[in-house]
Amino acid sequence: MGLIVQKFGGTSVANKERLENVARIITDTYRQGHQVVAVLSAQGKTTDELIAKAMDINPKASKREMDMLLSTGEQISCSLCAMAIQAMGYPAVSLTGWQAGFQTNSSYSNAKIKKVRTERIQAELDRNHSIVIVTGFQGLNKFDDNTTLGRGGSDTSAVALAAALKADLCQIYTDVDGIYTADPRYVEGARKLEEITFDEMLELASLGAQVLHNRSVEMAKKYRVNLEVLSSFSGKPGTKVKEVAKQMEKTQISGVAKDKNVARLALVGVEDKPGIAYQVFSLLGKENINVDIILQSYGRDERQDISFTVKRSDADQALAILSEHQATLGFDHIDVNKEVVKVSIVGAGMLENAGVAAKMFGALYDADINIHMISTSEIKVSVLLDEINGNAAVQAIHDKFFED
Ligand code: ASP
Ligand code: MG
Repeated sequence: MGLIVQKFGGTSVANKERLENVARIITDTYRQGHQVVAVLSAQGKTTDELIAKAMDINPKASKREMDMLLSTGEQISCSLCAMAIQAMGYPAVSLTGWQAGFQTNSSYSNAKIKKVRTERIQAELDRNHSIVIVTGFQGLNKFDDNTTLGRGGSDTSAVALAAALKADLCQIYTDVDGIYTADPRYVEGARKLEEITFDEMLELASLGAQVLHNRSVEMAKKYRVNLEVLSSFSGKPGTKVKEVAKQMEKTQISGVAKDKNVARLALVGVEDKPGIAYQVFSLLGKENINVDIILQSYGRDERQDISFTVKRSDADQALAILSEHQATLGFDHIDVNKEVVKVSIVGAGMLENAGVAAKMFGALYDADINIHMISTSEIKVSVLLDEINGNAAVQAIHDKFFED
């Protein structure tokens, strides 16, 4: 018996039947003797619809009023859920972000949680033995105005609450039944992981496996909140995200991910002298363009090439900035390739296993896929490939590591 925080996303609470299903999951947990705090998102596409309504009436709506509006979505799902639970004969109370004690900074539409004052929730749990339903995504700033945490922020609300309440477990219910070794929509043989570490999850999230909000994983890691990702539809066990996960002895890695939001720029014929890399990457940094993989070629005839990757959506801007400084940087020309993809393997046990990278390259060689760039970190190896080879590459690598 313990305290469990359960978070339900928009699809899980989209209509009456689904809200009743969520009410059943919550009351089943409560009947087992646990204290339950549920954090809900707005129903289905509610938040998108509210944004559309605002843009229709005033395309320059102030951020304060936007947060006032957007925070209503979660109030609807939470009050309805409390009603569904009460109809089943159980005690329930719904609370807004401010009633639940979420104090945030003042940046409307992207507020950061400063503190959660849990007295009210604790009283509802201990004195009233009530199930507590809390609106995700929202808080109150020092002016006593509603704020919201940024799109998808309810995951972060749930983890913050679990940390503040020192909950035994934080379950994130969603429409997929866990974290997979690769995207099951196109990779044959992809399977659900029983466990994964926070670090692996952070890498996979940034690589495009959009199951959990990144901020929520960072927070869970910092406060050591035990997370579980599971489906509100299937009733099957999900994936546990924790500090140390079971070692994947046999498979060596936890997953293979593909990221299409990437482009490669190559500065060709740069003068081989100190300070060039510094200038190039400072110029991009000033404009908030993040650079990922960097490759500097071996110099010849006092010239060399510097190539690097950026988000595909940043490629044109990066090209413009560098072209503007062609004279000072002294390169011959810039080559831009937007038809590339980044494929990565992630695994906490990678360092102890010699030959993991070689195994990945071998899979690509066998599939006759050419590698343009390589980068490695403690728990990740990434390669840049032609986009048309992306899915085949993921499949080939996955087969190699996960074949039985
Ligand atoms: N309702 C908000 C959104 O759609 C927050 C969330 O779903 O987590 O972004
Ligand atoms: Mg959502």
